Amino acid sequence: MAQARGSRRYKQIVANLKAQRLQPCMRCGMDIDYEADAQAGEPDAFNAGHKKSWATNPELREDPSNFQQEHARCNQGALTDDGDGPRGLGTVSEDW
Ligand SMILES: [Zn+2]
Repeated sequence: MAQARGSRRYKQIVANLKAQRLQPCMRCGMDIDYEADAQAGEPDAFNAGHKKSWATNPELREDPSNFQQEHARCNQGALTDDGDGPRGLGTVSEDW
């Protein structure tokens, strides 16, 4: 069900979150650069991340309350937690 990432609803949630320009990054605690372009690969750019893993909480994939602001680089470092691949070993970064 990875296509949920590109759904209309998903994009709306991400756009709404970005528009709030929340600080700081929920993974590293540093400020996010909202002028940076994530599509261009700028590491300090905004990305929408999930508080709870896609893999273990599929019902929360498009739940706005499960989204949080993150750096592109922090979000990419956590891809395994978002269900895009096998979970990494020994990495605990979720707030349960
Ligand atoms: Zn960060």
